[in-house]
Amino acid sequence: MPIYEYQCEKCCHCFERLVMGSDDEKTSCPKCGHGRVKRLLSSTCFIDSSGSSRCGSSSPKGFS
Ligand SMILES: [Zn+2]
Repeated sequence: MPIYEYQCEKCCHCFERLVMGSDDEKTSCPKCGHGRVKRLLSSTCFIDSSGSSRCGSSSPKGFS
C-alpha cells in the first residue's frame, strides 16, 4: 500500500498517510483537523532528525 505525503491547506503542516483504496478523499490534517489537504510529491517535504516533518517553503506558492 502506498504512503503519500500531504500538506494541510490551512496550516501547511506536512504529514504522511497510508492510503488504502479511495481513502484519499477522507484524509484530514492530524495537527489542526482541517479536512482539505493536498497530496505532495515526496520531494516537497523533509523529515528532520527530530522526526518532525516540515515543508520546504514557508510561503506556499500557488495560493492567493
Ligand atoms: Zn492543518
